[in-house]
Amino acid sequence: MFAKLAGRLQEAIDRLRGRGRITEEDLKATLREIRRALMDADVNLEVARAFVESVREKALGQKVLESLTPAEVVLATVYEALEEALGGEPRFPTLKNQNLWFLVGLQGSGKTTTAAKLALFYKGKGRRPLLVAADTQRPAAREQLRILGEKIGVPVLEVQDGESPESIRRRVEERARQEVRDLILVDTAGRLQIDEPLMAELARLKEAMNPDEVLLVLDAMTGQEALSVAKAFDERVGVTGLILTKLDGDARGGAALSARHVTGKPIYFAGVSERPEGLEPFYPDRLASRILGMGDVATLAEKVKAAGLEAETPKSAKELTLEDFLKQMQNLKRLGSFSEILAMLPGVGKALPAGVQVDDKAIKRLEAIVLSMTPEERKDPRILNASRRKRIARGSGTSVQEINRFIKAFEETKALMKSLEKNKGRGLMGMFRR
Ligand code: GDP
Repeated sequence: MFAKLAGRLQEAIDRLRGRGRITEEDLKATLREIRRALMDADVNLEVARAFVESVREKALGQKVLESLTPAEVVLATVYEALEEALGGEPRFPTLKNQNLWFLVGLQGSGKTTTAAKLALFYKGKGRRPLLVAADTQRPAAREQLRILGEKIGVPVLEVQDGESPESIRRRVEERARQEVRDLILVDTAGRLQIDEPLMAELARLKEAMNPDEVLLVLDAMTGQEALSVAKAFDERVGVTGLILTKLDGDARGGAALSARHVTGKPIYFAGVSERPEGLEPFYPDRLASRILGMGDVATLAEKVKAAGLEAETPKSAKELTLEDFLKQMQNLKRLGSFSEILAMLPGVGKALPAGVQVDDKAIKRLEAIVLSMTPEERKDPRILNASRRKRIARGSGTSVQEINRFIKAFEETKALMKSLEKNKGRGLMGMFRR
């Protein structure tokens, strides 16, 4: 996710590694790089400014403790700024006994796919969804939802050509009552761009049906442009929350990092693949962690569980061993969307040489490394002295450097995860203030 932005932020911070202290010049240069990276990712100008300013203030305000390097201090402040820009506290739609949600958005944004994803997501949580294909003009759009509904085992009510909002409401209510459906997801009509007749139609349908949530689906690949679309929809139909799609593609990050500031709306979910399972609740803290190469074990654990695979995720950073790593990797092969998944494993992204495409081969090398270790070594990599590393390199057909890189990244991330856990609820900076 946001690979380019992630790479540049990590590089800017990495350049401070190994320094005992940083001068104001160093900090200035780092902040300049961060700012450029944000601008190139199409982040809103004001957001980028505020971001850099908060990193500067916090970094200067910190007395660098002996246990923390300047790079770690900057890493922590960038983490906090990212979390803030992405929306701070995670937010989700409120669930009541009976729920009616609209999905609105431009054609091609991923609205229909997202309607099906939401139905599947909440079905997995014990809800009884009903999908409504509400485009009164495009039979093809209704058919698309019907097919998706069949695939995921959720019923779809299709409106008729030119059906009135009142008639739609009546039929939906009746069907929901008959079948005891408690989450009604209305896939509204989309057009290629904002057009007034469509907005008027949406406003009428909204008036007739009075939804609890109006979820705007935005294509993250369109960057900040998505946010002007958001404004237009909000003015005409009122939006309660956002869903960003195609975060698995090469979206630069501008939409996600600017959405909260520009639209004032929370991002509830992110689309991360074309498949019906490809929807993730949007957690700003987890995403910030992923962008900075610190992994996202929590999301990973949820995915593994949702896929019905045995969860081998450790309960805490302290318990994280290389053996868990290996088990996760083996499980992950069955989860699909490889580079996305890899970014969730702490340290793995970093352990791979820069620029190398993350593929099956790269994973096989890491796998070979772990497999060439004894059980003791996997549990406690600290016992890996030079001769053990040489033996492992020979056994796995890799090099000692590769092993060093892998272990170092693993240990670093583990240490960071530990401090994160310790300071849960107090913010990452809490650990500097004791
Ligand atoms: P709609 O016109 O807004 O209803 O958009 P669709 O649901 O038909 O989606 C448009 C295209 O985007 C389809 O090819 C979807 O498979 C694709 N798509 C939707 N969401 C995602 C996503 O999160 N990731 C990826 N990679 N593709 C997506």
